[in-house]
Amino acid sequence: MLDQGGIADRFVLQGRVSRRAPFARISLDLSDLPTRHNYFLALWQTRIEHILADWVGELAVTIYRGSEVTGFAQDDTGVDIELSDGRSLRARYLVGCDGGRSLIRKKAGIGSVPCDAERLFCENAQKSAAFHRQTSFLITF
Ligand SMILES: Cc1cc2nc3c(=O)[nH]c(=O)nc-3n(C[C@H](O)[C@H](O)[C@H](O)COP(=O)(O)OP(=O)(O)OC[C@H]3O[C@@H](n4cnc5c(N)ncnc54)[C@H](O)[C@@H]3O)c2cc1C
Repeated sequence: MLDQGGIADRFVLQGRVSRRAPFARISLDLSDLPTRHNYFLALWQTRIEHILADWVGELAVTIYRGSEVTGFAQDDTGVDIELSDGRSLRARYLVGCDGGRSLIRKKAGIGSVPCDAERLFCENAQKSAAFHRQTSFLITF
C-alpha cells in the first residue's frame, strides 16, 4: 500500500532493513518472498506517524484536527455533518473510518466488522501456544 501510494521510500530511508525476521525463537528468511519489499523494516511508530502526517500535509485536502463528528444527516445530494465545536460541514460523501467503535457506521446502520479483535487475538495466542508445543513454529497471516 505504501509503495502504491509512492511513499515507501520515505519509510525505508528512516528504518532498518532486515532480510530475516524473528518468529517464535526461529529466524525466518524473507529474501525469497515474491515482492520488491522482501524484508522486515524496523521503524519506531512515532517516525511512522510523522512520515504519514507529512505526506497528508502535502495532499490537496483540508484536514480538520481536533474536531469530533457528533452527528450527520444525509439527503439525496450529500450529507450534513455536525462537529463537536458547533460547526457543520456539507460533503457529497462521509466515510466511516473512525475506528472500532465508529459513531458514523453505527448511525448509518452499518454493522460492525464481524470480528472481535481482542477475542481473536487471545484465541490465536492459545492456538499458537498449543501448536508450538507440538511443532517447531507457526506462521499466521
Ligand atoms: C494496543 C494496541 C496495539 C496494536 N498493535 C498493532 C500492531 O502492532 N499491528 C497492527 O497491524 N495493528 C495493531 N493494532 C490494531 C490497529 O491499531 C487497528 O487495527 C487500527 O488502528 C485500526 O485502524 P482504523 O483506521 O480503522 O481506526 P483507528 O486507528 O482507531 O482510527 C480511527 C480514528 O478516528 C478518530 N475518530 C473516532 N471517532 C471519531 C469521531 N466521532 N469524529 C472524528 N474522528 C473520530 C480517532 O480519533 C482515530 O484517529 C493495535 C491496537 C491496539 C489497541
